Amino acid sequence: MLAAMPFAPAPTPSGARPAARQGGDACPGALRLHAAADGALARIRVPAGLLTARQARVLARAAAELGDGGLDLTSRGNIQLRGLAPDHGGALADRLRSAGLLPSDRHERVRNIAASPLAGLDGAGHADVQAWARELDALLCADPDAARLSGRFLFGLDDGRGDVAALAPDVTLIAGQDGRAALGYGVGGPALQLAAEDAPRAAVLAAHAFLSARDADGGGAWRVADLSPEHRPRADALAARLAAAGISGTPLPRATPPLGAPPAPGLVPGPHGAHALSVAAPLGRTTVAQWELLAETAAHDGDGELRVTPWRGIVLPGLRAAAAPARLAALAEAGFVTDEDSAWHGAGVCAGRPGCAKSLADVRTDAAAALAGRRGGGLPVYWSGCERRCGHPGGAWVDVLATREGYRVAVRPVPHGPSDGSGGPAEPVAAGRRLAEAVAAARTA
Ligand code: SF4
Repeated sequence: MLAAMPFAPAPTPSGARPAARQGGDACPGALRLHAAADGALARIRVPAGLLTARQARVLARAAAELGDGGLDLTSRGNIQLRGLAPDHGGALADRLRSAGLLPSDRHERVRNIAASPLAGLDGAGHADVQAWARELDALLCADPDAARLSGRFLFGLDDGRGDVAALAPDVTLIAGQDGRAALGYGVGGPALQLAAEDAPRAAVLAAHAFLSARDADGGGAWRVADLSPEHRPRADALAARLAAAGISGTPLPRATPPLGAPPAPGLVPGPHGAHALSVAAPLGRTTVAQWELLAETAAHDGDGELRVTPWRGIVLPGLRAAAAPARLAALAEAGFVTDEDSAWHGAGVCAGRPGCAKSLADVRTDAAAALAGRRGGGLPVYWSGCERRCGHPGGAWVDVLATREGYRVAVRPVPHGPSDGSGGPAEPVAAGRRLAEAVAAARTA
């Protein structure tokens, strides 16, 4: 029997009707570029964040030759390129196809799969969820109906440590100690226990259940939480759907035990002498030179693989213990966050000015000024240029919101929680030393 399952709590009170989505899902992709204020933006899905060193180099060359020279890491472990010319979409798609990063044009936006980045590397966790991710990705790409999912629908594959389950995925698979798996459908929705080898197929069936519910609900839902109450997930209906496909699923009680933390920056000693390196990209962005250093480190010192994390970090597996400290030092020298006590650890920003026309401030510059020279992080912190707060973290975090009067600083206690947080100054604060102090105080409050 699986222990209590770390499925996140329901985001809305039972029976509450979610706000209706306006218009179609305009989530950007690698083929459907978004016209941002600084040029076209491409979002390249990277299931489980898994890249080979060669694929990473292809992305670096694309950023250098087609984009603005930066690579943004998203809150789902995907990669964004910005500043592309409007006619560069075809050239980008050709490069991605040749590198195996675009296995199905029809499915390119629905391959949103987050997986525990340290699975199999540190002795924690119960299964190699990267194998699940590869199988799930192949199943999605072979499934015409799956192409109807929105670009925001998230599959979360958790190896049992609770890190990915904390992201509140639409469909969650959690590895159990006993070689079995738990399937969660919706946040706070039903959970079923099933055989681990059935898990990827069961996840696709849960996505089918969502599509059926969405169709019956008028077709406007992008995520499970958008469904109206009469179409919310039910354990018996999900179990029947799985049974019809030959998968036995036993209902599990809902539970909300402590959720796991994301990988901390630094060395990750492994069970067989190999080490992994865990680093974070400052404010979620790397330069081409930094990215190429990651690819080179993976190719020459690691096992040739990079894992982009949903917390805007990168894990490099398979380094020899003797070589790992020097390689970590080289990444720190190149500007990566390699120290858990760095104020940059857990800090993020939305696109802000000049990339987003909605932004009320240059949040990247203001965030960098507030973090420079400081030690000790505390809670994750996220700067947003407007109230949409694109890409903000889950769990408890410090919200630094640009307004016309200055930045409002507030601690947000729960995912999708009340809109008025607390823990910061009562009045907006202008960028500068006072803002830096207010943010530092809120992170450690
Ligand atoms: S939060 Fe607002 S300013 Fe920032 S990227 Fe989103 S829409 Fe633009």
